[in-house]
Amino acid sequence: MTIGATLEFHGAAGEVTGSCTLLRTKKARILVDFGMFQGTPADEARNAVAPEIDFRSLDAVIVTHAHIDHCGRLAMLPELGFRGRIYCTTATHELLGRVLRSSARLQRARFYERADGSAPWARALMPGEEAGGPPEFPPAHRLFDTPEVRDTMDMIEGVPLDREVKIAPLVSLVFRNAGHIPGAASAELTVGAGADKKIVLFSGDLGPERSALLAPPHRPARADVVVVESTNGERRRDANLDPETTLAAIVADAARRKAKVIVPCFALGRAQLLVYRLARLHARGLMHGLNVYVDSPMAVHGIESLYRHPEYLAPELTAAVRSGGAPLWFPELHYVLSKRESMAIDRMVHGGIILAGSGFMDAGPVLRHLSESIDREDCVIVLSGYQPEGGFAWRIQRGADRAQFSGKTLPVRASSVRVEGLSGHADQDDLVKWFAGFGEKPGRVVINHGVDTARAALAARLKTELGIESTLPARAVPVEI
Ligand SMILES: [Zn+2]
Repeated sequence: MTIGATLEFHGAAGEVTGSCTLLRTKKARILVDFGMFQGTPADEARNAVAPEIDFRSLDAVIVTHAHIDHCGRLAMLPELGFRGRIYCTTATHELLGRVLRSSARLQRARFYERADGSAPWARALMPGEEAGGPPEFPPAHRLFDTPEVRDTMDMIEGVPLDREVKIAPLVSLVFRNAGHIPGAASAELTVGAGADKKIVLFSGDLGPERSALLAPPHRPARADVVVVESTNGERRRDANLDPETTLAAIVADAARRKAKVIVPCFALGRAQLLVYRLARLHARGLMHGLNVYVDSPMAVHGIESLYRHPEYLAPELTAAVRSGGAPLWFPELHYVLSKRESMAIDRMVHGGIILAGSGFMDAGPVLRHLSESIDREDCVIVLSGYQPEGGFAWRIQRGADRAQFSGKTLPVRASSVRVEGLSGHADQDDLVKWFAGFGEKPGRVVINHGVDTARAALAARLKTELGIESTLPARAVPVEI
C-alpha cells in the first residue's frame, strides 16, 4: 500500500547529523528539519552546500527541536528563497532565536579568527606523542549572520503540543511530545481528505522511556508511515545503572578535597538533566555545600523553558512546577551569565562544579576552564555520552597525559571520571516498546538518523519482535510511500 507521496533524505541518512527530509505529496512539499552536519571539518564543510531542493516551492518547514543538527541551517532559508512559514513547538520557538544567534556569532568569530590566524585550539596528547603547532584549519564558512536570523525568526510560528494546525494544501500538523529535550516534538502530519486521509509521523529525536527529568515520548495510536530516528538503535541501557550514585561519589570526593569539577556538557538536554540530578543530591543531603556553576546562558534558558512549559517534564515534576515548586533549583546552584563571571570562577579555590559547553570539549568556555586547571591534581573532569573518535574528550578518556591550548602545553594531572546513563535518546528497547505501543501496526517504517549498524540493528529487532519491515533510505534517493 502506498499513500502516493515520496520522502527524500538530504541528511542524517546513515549518519547522526544534518537532519533534512523532504516530503512531497500530490499537492504539497514540506521540509522536516534543516540541521547542520557536525563532527569532522569535512562534515562541517558540507553545511555550505545547500541540498538540491527547490526551496522557493516549499509550502512549509517543520522543526522538531532546537538541537543544531536539526535546526542549525534554518537561517539559510531566506537566502535560499523560502518565503513560507516555519512551524515548531512554542517552547522550541523560544529557544531557537538564541540558538541561531549564537550560531551566527560563532561563525563570525571563526571566520575572522581563521583569517587572521588567531583561532583558539586545543589538543590532548597521548603518552609519547609529540606536541605540535596549530592544526590545519579548513576555511570557515559563514552560512548566515544576524540579519538572516531575524528574517528567519519572523517566519516562525510556535504551536503548542497536541494542537492541530493546517500548514499546506491537504496537510495538517500536530506536534507530540518526544521526551528528548525541552520543546522537542514528533511531527504528526495528516495528508489528504475524507476517507483518503493518511498519517505520516516523523519521530524527531525520541527520549528514553524512563527519564528522571522529562516526560516519556507520546505513544501514537496509529500512523500509515513512520519515519523514526535510530541514534541509539544498537544500544541497550543497563537498567541497574544509576547516574546519581556516581555523581554522589564525585561530589563527596570533590567536597572532601576541595576539588574543582569540570563537566563538559551540551546546553540543551544534558545540562538540565545534570542540574536536576544535582538538585536531587541536594534534597538527599549529599551536596556537602559544594557550589554548582552553570556556565552557559543557553543551558539556563533551557532550565527556564521547563518552568514555562512544565508539560515537557516527567508527570510528578509537572505537578510540582504547577503548584509553585522549582525541582531544578537548589541553594548551591549559580547561573553564570557573563564572560567576566565565567573567568572569575576559574580562580575559585574552595572547590565547586562547573557545567560548561561544549560537551565534546572542542570549543566554548569549557576549554578555558580546562586550560586553567587541567594541570592540577585537585581537578576532576566528568565525561558522559558519546565522544567523537580522536577528539579532545576521547583522548582524555583514553589517558592523554598532556594538553595543548593554543600553544601552551600543560601536563594532565586532573583525573577523569565517566557518568553513564544520562542519554537523552531512546535506546533499542525503548524504540521497540514505542512501536509496540501503537494501537495498529504502522503500514510503513523508514529508519533515518543513525549510523548504518544502528539502523540495521533496530530494523532486525522490529522485524523479529513485531513483524515490522523497515526501509533504510540512502541520501537524496526518493522513497515512495
Ligand atoms: Zn536532538
